[in-house]
Amino acid sequence: MTAGDREKARKLLAALVLAEYGREADTFRNRRERAFFLNTMAERFLDAETALGRTAFRPVRLEWKIESFKLTLADGTEIELHGKIDRIDADRDGNFMVIDYKTGKYPEARDRLEQDIFQLPVYAVMALATAPDSGASLRKAVGLAYYDLSGRTAAHARDMVLYDKDALPEQPASKPNSSRKSSVDLAAILDHSMAGAKKAIEGIRANSFSAAPRDPKVCRFCVNEVLCGRTSEDEE
Ligand code: SF4
Repeated sequence: MTAGDREKARKLLAALVLAEYGREADTFRNRRERAFFLNTMAERFLDAETALGRTAFRPVRLEWKIESFKLTLADGTEIELHGKIDRIDADRDGNFMVIDYKTGKYPEARDRLEQDIFQLPVYAVMALATAPDSGASLRKAVGLAYYDLSGRTAAHARDMVLYDKDALPEQPASKPNSSRKSSVDLAAILDHSMAGAKKAIEGIRANSFSAAPRDPKVCRFCVNEVLCGRTSEDEE
């Protein structure tokens, strides 16, 4: 989007917002949320799109449904993974970024291979393996981004939470050091995340639902042991 398109896009967003919020009762809360959307979320979104217009990347997929990604489990069973990707931006060479819009919190980048960000890398692997019905081919995942629309986390709406520093210049990121990865490291994160998805599916199929909190220390303050079945011995 060029700076000149911005006013047109703002009007379009305002019309869509009015129609959407107009379906609900005209309460104080409704009006406040509508104003927040127009004054904050829409402006942050437009800032991000204006900045994107100065790069070689453009949106090439929107709300893309993938329904035929095949995954072979350890016992040889072939399953299909489904997903709906909010958006993919790509350049002419097929380098692409997977994008998810967020109005609330989202996981941050970590300095290690094991990431809390899970869905975006899994989507990147699925996108890479799926031929498009139409539009540009995708050749290499170079970035994973959340659009922090409400501004809870990032200074810019487009928070490039993980990206390939060998393929891209410095990107807007709320955790600049952790988000910059080499090509090799980013590829390893994608593989590791898909391996994690496979393991989770195998666990579900084996009826294994044991509680495995990311940080066992939080169990000490949790009141849901009855539900998850953990005992104090598990914490030792
Ligand atoms: S006690 Fe159970 S539910 Fe609570 S944090 Fe630990 S694993 Fe999760």
